[in-house]
Amino acid sequence: MRNNTREVKIRDIVIGGSNPVTIQSMTNLSVEDIDGTIRQIEECRRAGCQIMRIAVPNANAAKSFAVVRKQIDMPLVADIHFDYRLAIASMEAGADKIRINPGNMTLPQLDSVIDCAKQHNVPIRVGVNSGSVNKEALAKSNGDKLRALFDSLRSYVEYFEKRNFFDLVLSVKSSDVRDTINLCRMVAQLGYPMHLGVTEAGLLEQGLVKNSIGIGALLLDGIGDTVRVSLTADPVREVYAAKDILIALGLRQGVTFVSCPKCGRCSIDLEKAADEIYRYVRDLNKKLKIAVMGCEVNGPGECADADLGLAGAKGNCVFFKHGQRYKTVSATEAIEQFKKEIDLIANDN
Ligand code: SF4
Repeated sequence: MRNNTREVKIRDIVIGGSNPVTIQSMTNLSVEDIDGTIRQIEECRRAGCQIMRIAVPNANAAKSFAVVRKQIDMPLVADIHFDYRLAIASMEAGADKIRINPGNMTLPQLDSVIDCAKQHNVPIRVGVNSGSVNKEALAKSNGDKLRALFDSLRSYVEYFEKRNFFDLVLSVKSSDVRDTINLCRMVAQLGYPMHLGVTEAGLLEQGLVKNSIGIGALLLDGIGDTVRVSLTADPVREVYAAKDILIALGLRQGVTFVSCPKCGRCSIDLEKAADEIYRYVRDLNKKLKIAVMGCEVNGPGECADADLGLAGAKGNCVFFKHGQRYKTVSATEAIEQFKKEIDLIANDN
């Protein structure tokens, strides 16, 4: 069952409550590269990203953020560290949400940010991570870092509430997967929408594993309202990874793609077939199961509950539809033919 949280509106998207879990990513270019930033945001949007975050580290970046804002019609989050004036400039430039760590600001500065957020109806993500634990909280928790992080976050939330500000999204991250899961379970009790992710998770393969475990475990607990798979890679990869996690857990409509690991029985170029077909179907917003198998030994079984399946067979490929074998095509033509079958079934549903 989904954790019951408040709802927060970010431009045209509501997160929290019983709303679908949303996907977000972050540009990895300087926002002063305006064309590059816009291109990256568009690529992520096409891949399924719903909210995009941009780092705003200085006054020039805030000016560039304003230019990007005017050209992009999707929720944009300004990511601010330290300088409260950049948070204010970003909200005045049209940021739909800002992300801050209140521990990096004085209380009067934080008050100015809260006043501006109220005036512009901008929600605030309060994010703390293991690298920025509050020293006072660490002393009070006798060195228990997780408790200290949670207590820091809770004290910030209480401060916002005292100022009558409730449009909060919370995040608490660590590069350690278990710590992230345990912390998020604690924070979920505060009743605000949660942004999930394992921070500094590493390069593609390592990062995918850590994020899938961390985000997946929490989503299975009913915790989490928006996710970012943090990777040292192209942000588009983050979006596809997040989408695959949500589809795998039945939290988002999309194509479930199945392919076998291949063994000595395979007589086709399975990697090429699987890669091309996966890329062909991954943007379809349809509930479909597509199977690509190396041979007929397990092929028919695995294809049985697929809407469409392909299995290698001695220089040929056999196609299956809803579990029924219905066509044999030479391996050289199989991928193109199979794409046509995908078009037919996708347009059918
Ligand atoms: S489907 Fe065939 S090729 Fe693929 S792993 Fe199974 S037996 Fe091997």
